[in-house]
Amino acid sequence: MVKDSRGEKEINAMMMPDLKVGDWILYASNIAVHKVSEEDAMEILALLEPKSHIDLSLLDKEFLDILKACHTRGLERDEIIRLLKTQDPTELEALFSEANTIRQANLKDFFCIHGIVEFSSYCVRNCHYCGLRRDSGDAGRYRMSASEIVGAVEDAVNKRGYKLIVLQSGDDFYYTDDMLVDIIRMIKERCKVFIFMSVGERSLEGYKKMKAAGASGVLFRFETSSRELYNSIHPGQSYDERIAYLKGMKAMGYYVASGFLIGLPGQTLDGIADDIITMKSLGVNMVTVGPFIPSADTPLSERPAGDAMTTLKVIAIARLLMPKTKIPVTTALETIESEEGRRLGLSSGGNSLMFNLTPERYRDFYRIYPNKYHGKEEMWEKYGLFKEALSYKMLEKKMFEVFEEEGKYSGR
Ligand code: SF4
Repeated sequence: MVKDSRGEKEINAMMMPDLKVGDWILYASNIAVHKVSEEDAMEILALLEPKSHIDLSLLDKEFLDILKACHTRGLERDEIIRLLKTQDPTELEALFSEANTIRQANLKDFFCIHGIVEFSSYCVRNCHYCGLRRDSGDAGRYRMSASEIVGAVEDAVNKRGYKLIVLQSGDDFYYTDDMLVDIIRMIKERCKVFIFMSVGERSLEGYKKMKAAGASGVLFRFETSSRELYNSIHPGQSYDERIAYLKGMKAMGYYVASGFLIGLPGQTLDGIADDIITMKSLGVNMVTVGPFIPSADTPLSERPAGDAMTTLKVIAIARLLMPKTKIPVTTALETIESEEGRRLGLSSGGNSLMFNLTPERYRDFYRIYPNKYHGKEEMWEKYGLFKEALSYKMLEKKMFEVFEEEGKYSGR
């Protein structure tokens, strides 16, 4: 029997026969999975438990009505803008608390830890905000070999317990579709892991082959829903094609992670509301939003960074609108707010973290933006990763229940 803020419940402790009364544990799907020190337990509880001391009578009625409305219907554009505009501390607290409550009601305390291997810093594109853009030159660029990529994933999965890995690169066609397919196959032969591809704009035929080889998801942002803004900061690319890619990937049955940048030049709160609505209408399975961070030697190097508070509001609103969607706290938010950004993101509706698994010797050369955050990951790795096969099954169930409902996913 365990006791938490929601009362007492019976838990299966077959995996931990030495448990005794007074121990702190982590449990998932009613199975005890980890003993936790009291100090760590307090830190975890502070993250997970929604704040309950907000005096709702202090809230503006219109604001309260919007928070209530999200339980029965989607939010209108002007309601999203109203939430984005608020700077009132009580309203902000209520928004974040509501998002956290919805996260807990729909996902319980199922937090995920994923890893990312950045395997090539070469890119043929010239996005105005990105330090990896083609015109930044070749100095310090790197490409990992197939065996290095497979080895990095194997270590992360078989030694550390990661269950979902993103393979990311610039748009680098040195790696042909067939090479990527071989890499995916090699990984799937050696590891029980979900593979997400973040390899940019290549043919949908190529994405189909990668899926057949064992890739489960894609990480592919649309960056902004303003066609004009998108086209102006992505020379040679087109907003309509970007969206067509996302629709094509979704139709193929990929688990789609997508989202946008906050703080792009000319972006307004109305525009951000449109970005959120676009994300929802695309039916993304994982929301990825982060602040723009200026990078040296790019056309936007002098622009101010996007702000953390707007990013947190977007995470919270996304949770109100997409209760079951996975929402990772992005490294960019951690970069501008460090450890506090991670804590705030998770207590505002976020439910997963993405840790960098790129081999140390390459990390400094993957400079999408400067001073990328490499935070304290020990506690999360200690408690959030399980090597047991059962935990892979649990993640599969959580991630793909939507697909199962639609009859599109047969398991891997
Ligand atoms: S954002 Fe992606 S596609 Fe654009 S330059 Fe950077 S790595 Fe290349």
